[in-house]
Amino acid sequence: MVRPILEYASELWCGEIPLDLAAKAEAVQTNFARTVLGLQGQRALTHTFMRAELGLEKLASRWEKLRLGYWRRIQAAKPDRALAIVAAARRRQLRWEGGAELSWMKQTRTLLRERGLEEYWTTPNLTTTIDKDEWRDKVYEQVEEYYEQERERRCATMPSVARYLGMKCWDRMSSDRAVMKGEVGMRGALVVERYLDDVQERLGSRLKVMCRAGCLPVMSRVAWELDLSRRHGKCPLCDSGEVEDVEHILLHCPAHQHHRSKMMASAAAVYATANNGAELGDSGEETQVRVLLGARAGSKAAEDVIDVQVKRFLVKVWKKRRRVSQAINDRLGRQDVVWAKDWGWSKPQLSDKRATHRRKCRAKRPLSTGRPSMVGEARAAGSGHNSAVATAPDAVAGARRRLCFGV
Ligand SMILES: [Zn+2]
Repeated sequence: MVRPILEYASELWCGEIPLDLAAKAEAVQTNFARTVLGLQGQRALTHTFMRAELGLEKLASRWEKLRLGYWRRIQAAKPDRALAIVAAARRRQLRWEGGAELSWMKQTRTLLRERGLEEYWTTPNLTTTIDKDEWRDKVYEQVEEYYEQERERRCATMPSVARYLGMKCWDRMSSDRAVMKGEVGMRGALVVERYLDDVQERLGSRLKVMCRAGCLPVMSRVAWELDLSRRHGKCPLCDSGEVEDVEHILLHCPAHQHHRSKMMASAAAVYATANNGAELGDSGEETQVRVLLGARAGSKAAEDVIDVQVKRFLVKVWKKRRRVSQAINDRLGRQDVVWAKDWGWSKPQLSDKRATHRRKCRAKRPLSTGRPSMVGEARAAGSGHNSAVATAPDAVAGARRRLCFGV
């Protein structure tokens, strides 16, 4: 949506603008991605995650493709056109006569060399011996390869994204997993994740995004954001004494065993079918976490079933944990997702004036026609689960007891 403006005439100015201006342009896109994913305000999220999750290409990559496409247009122009005459003169200056140090042609020569296309600089006629589509494919391949290697180099020094790197499929998209025809053959980093298309389970999708990003507000994350030791992040829903992190929730926490057993039974069955009988439980815990959060599981059908099951599980976990989340929000002034029936969003805190106004409106409204509040709905829905209700007061007490962070 914002890309065309930031690409306007970039054939001419890309590579010529100051680096800080280029970084600002890239930030437009990453801020957009952060908003779409609902991760505003989350700390320590890498741009790699946000781009890869939505299949967004770096603007610098797009600019280079356009510039190199324009290079071919110049070479293919009729020799008597001013464009071709000026370009030939500039190229001659650069090669033989000196000068043209600040010209577009010099930057393009550097770009062609760095992307492995130098032969097209030394012999420009080669560019016109292949058709437009073939040149485009060649340029796209070389430029995307460069940025893929750059991403790998950058991520190799970031331990925080190690799990995500193993979760996301960076290979080229196969026809059986592609949602649209245009995605077939594209690099994984440039394809939006399929699970984000789910509009039925919005809260589940939101929780899954946060799990994949490593920013789900479980106790370990809350403690980390408060610069506290990891031992302060013990699980408030069980007495295991383990730190509550994504792995604990997905694989270990006894408080969620009932829902977990259903999820794991379905996931293990489809995983075995897709992998010649291999047991999901026999793979390591890290592999299990990655598969549950969206790593390749053998077939598209298996991945879709696991996706549905995991989202359902996460919603139930978060519903059971809602009083803990609320206690954390109250205590620390956060606005983490608590739980809601209809949307996956944290309820915004009302100002005192608006809250008073809303209370007055509700008081005037007849009880028989009034829609129950979200809190009421949550309580009503929760009352069907005796185990959840029974543990919730203890959980709140435990959460408050353990949240004595001294803040
Ligand atoms: Zn636990």
